[in-house]
Amino acid sequence: MKKILVIYTGGTIGMIKDSSNSLKPVNFGKITERVPELKHINCSISHYTFKKLIDSSNVTPEFYIELAETIEKNYKSYDGFIILHGTDTMAYSASALSFMLENLNKPVIFTGSQLPLGAIRTDAKHNLITAVEIAAGDVIIPEVCIYFNDQLFRGNRAEKFSSSQFDAFQSLNYPTLVEAGTSLQYNHKFISKKSSKKLIVHKKLNPNIGLVRIFPGITGNWLEHIFSVEGLKAVVLETYGSGNAPTADPFLKTLKSAIDKGIIILNVSQCAGGKVEQGKYETSKRLKQMGIISGSDITTEAALTKLMYLFGRYPNQKKKIEAELVKDLRGEMSKN
Ligand code: ASP
Repeated sequence: MKKILVIYTGGTIGMIKDSSNSLKPVNFGKITERVPELKHINCSISHYTFKKLIDSSNVTPEFYIELAETIEKNYKSYDGFIILHGTDTMAYSASALSFMLENLNKPVIFTGSQLPLGAIRTDAKHNLITAVEIAAGDVIIPEVCIYFNDQLFRGNRAEKFSSSQFDAFQSLNYPTLVEAGTSLQYNHKFISKKSSKKLIVHKKLNPNIGLVRIFPGITGNWLEHIFSVEGLKAVVLETYGSGNAPTADPFLKTLKSAIDKGIIILNVSQCAGGKVEQGKYETSKRLKQMGIISGSDITTEAALTKLMYLFGRYPNQKKKIEAELVKDLRGEMSKN
């Protein structure tokens, strides 16, 4: 019988309303007692509850480390892991964990819900039950995933796109790994192969990474403030369409002087689907010429956490980091 560890970190799934009618997470004890249907799945379920339960808006790099350590400590004893987590930053956490857990050969599935477990029309039960069924199933999915509303996504390819629908996540640049209908349909071709190597858990992250979303009217002066932040190592630049940005000189000069200062800039599209192709338009040619790196079809969530991981793993090795950024490390991007 497979052994599954359910790790509860907070999020709507375990929230109740406080005296002022705002939702906040509470410790609901053993999930199997709240969702008795779980007892009918052929597996044994254990529980681990984080000491501090959070709304996922409060997630920090330290939280990723705590989560990775929890999996590391329990890795040998369990066949799969379910992480109950708020949906707001679930895609960031799943992306971070995908980089931190190298040579994973067991499923790590994030799930949560749009309505609390106690709500009559909750989606929590359905999400949790199917996530456990997949984690305990015969087809091993050795990846960090997100299960939500009938779909299992590769975690570092997914993003939250709706704050109100049950169908809250999408992955436009990579197919879903499993579709849950009356039966579970596995998309075998797109599921990673098991690693024969030993799990390596990378626990150093560098938080000195920034994110800039360009917008019509953005000025070089405005950007300069961002690039002058003390200790800044890299910036994810969210550009238009296939990687395009304004061509005004002050704007481009500010980017160039940040690069000259040694800051890495990674070009990621504001579009959820498609990829960055620097040089396709005149409006991205100079970005490429000045040394901005193309993020291809990586999500912003994966780009940010990949940089945190690379700067934690290879401190002061800029060349190495630049080389790793254009590589697909955990299935997070298609070739440039
Ligand atoms: N604010 C909540 C969180 O991310 C939303 C959710 O769980 O759906 O923790």
